[in-house]
Formats: sequence, structure tokens, C-alpha cells
Amino acid sequence: MSGGALHLETPLLEALPLAARTGRRVLLKLESLQPSGSFKLRGLGRLCSHLVANEGARRLVASSGGNAGLAVAWAARRLGVAAHIVVPGSTPQVARERLRIFGASVEVHGAIWNEADALARGLATEPGSAYVPPFDHPLIWAGHATLVDELVVQLAALGLARPDAVVLSVGGGLMCGVLEGMHRHGWREVPLVAVETTGAASLQAAVTAGRPVALARIETLATTLGALQVAEEAFRWTLRHPVRLVQLEDRAALAACRRFADDHQLLVEPACGVALAALEEPSAAVALGDARVVVAVACGGSGVSLELLERWQRAQAPVQAG
Ligand SMILES: *Cc1c(COP(=O)(O)O)cnc(C)c1O
Repeated sequence: MSGGALHLETPLLEALPLAARTGRRVLLKLESLQPSGSFKLRGLGRLCSHLVANEGARRLVASSGGNAGLAVAWAARRLGVAAHIVVPGSTPQVARERLRIFGASVEVHGAIWNEADALARGLATEPGSAYVPPFDHPLIWAGHATLVDELVVQLAALGLARPDAVVLSVGGGLMCGVLEGMHRHGWREVPLVAVETTGAASLQAAVTAGRPVALARIETLATTLGALQVAEEAFRWTLRHPVRLVQLEDRAALAACRRFADDHQLLVEPACGVALAALEEPSAAVALGDARVVVAVACGGSGVSLELLERWQRAQAPVQAG
């Protein structure tokens, strides 16, 4: 397969309902429209292409039942090679089924991700196979950075040189890639609003401690944000770019998922909803400051359905009176 990227160029949507409610101009980068359901195809597509074209991989082995696994499965399909995804027993049937529909072979191993990942790494030592890490690789960040290359062109078409702020959820990998792209295009002064759920605030913990530290536990519906410890590279970016940290409750993320569905007829995971929530939550207003034009990354995610959204909302503890 020749050099073309595996991801789509995604629309930059003028979000009028959000503008009406916030008084800011809000432009949404619609990564939920990627064929794998999230931005992850940008970085993992880049890495998978490299492994196939330059390292002769005929089979890509990964260990995520979530959006990273889907991105690897999609990339393998487009590259004409096999994908073998090892998932732990905790991976829901719908996620396994979707990987199979994407053409991957799915193997269930272990109770938790680390066990599945250990097997994946072992299998990848077989001739012709390559292990694909889910995050934390320079080629992954370079692939994610293409999001900003597109933004530059799309903003120019609107007569804008740069936004006043960029909003995204963390993770870590997406932030590293977007900041790489922002610096490539000279957006060194544009604040990045990095949003986490309170139950997975590993970047905030790192900034407080002055180095990446492990959280005791992850407690959030935004499971795709749930790294116990933020990547070293993401922490380092906070030292050389104006990064403004925001933490919001799952409740706010869910409400934002719902509003996004109502506004634009699109479903996204709470991991994405939390970034959208930052546009409207009063507690995040300080981070946005007086920004008039805001770009928010609607990072997407396949681990959501109408039924799940409703079940999650019902399960939220009622607000205490008084
Ligand atoms: C993976 C993922 C994230 C977090 O990405 P990082 O690369 O870890 O920053 C956020 N939202 C969705 C939907 C994801 O799939």
C-alpha cells in the first residue's frame, strides 16, 4: 500500500448552539467521524503504516479492546495485513464483536489489560508480526499532530490565523500530538485547556507533584482517559506551553454528551464529553479566560450507545439537597 494517510480529514464544525449558550465562537474538530470512531486512527494509522512499509510487518498485534484496538484493526484492514487483538475478559461483548466486524481476530486472555498486553507482546515476537503500543510513541504523536495541520487550513478559510484557545481531553497522547502540531505552526502562545475527569486526573497530579506520579485508583466513566500515570512527555509539555488544567465530574461529562447529541445528532464517549463540558461549566470559565474563538477537539470514541448514556445518567448519585 502506498503512502497515503489512513485517517480522514475531519470537518471543523461551527457549533452555533454552543456559541449561543457560551457567547464564544466555538469550532468543533469532529474526530468522532473518523472511520475507527476516534482521533486514534491518526497516530496509530501512522505507526501501523510505518511497521508495514518499513519493518515488513504482515500481522499487527495489539491489546486494546477500545478505541486504540479499533484504530489498529482499521489500519490493518486498509494496509492489507492481519490484525490480532488480545483483550482481557473484562472487555464487553459489543467491543469484541466490533473488532471482528473490522476484520481483526480477537483473543481473550487474562482478567486485566496488563495480562492481555503481556501476551500481545509475546505473540508479536513471531516472524512477520509487530506489536503496536496504544500510546506513548513519537510516531503516534506525529500522526495526531496532523489534526492541527488541518485546523490551520480550515481556520484560514474562515479568515482566522489561530484560535484564542484549544480545548481537549487528557489522556496524554492526544495532547502531545496537538501541542507538537501547534508549535510546528507557531501557536506557541495559544493556551491549551487540558480537561480531565476528577476520577482520572493524572495530569493534575503530575503538575502538583512536579513529576508524573501514579494515582491510587481510577474512578470515572471516561475509561479511555484512565491512565494511572500520565505520560512523561505530556507532563513535560506543561513546562513549555501555557497549559490550563481543568477537572470536571463525570456528571458534567455525561450532560455534555447528551447536549452534543441533541445539538448535532452525534454520540461520543464521556472521555470526549468532558472536553465539551469545559466550554459550558462555570468552573472551567477561568481556564478559557476571554477567549472569543475556541477550537475544541471532539475526540469521539466508540464505547457509547444511547442505552449506555441513559444507564450512566440514571446511575449518577442524586444531588444532595441543601
Ligand atoms: C484514547 C482516547 C482519549 C485519550 O487519549 P490520549 O491519547 O490518551 O490522550 C480520549 N478520548 C477518546 C475517545 C479516546 O479514545
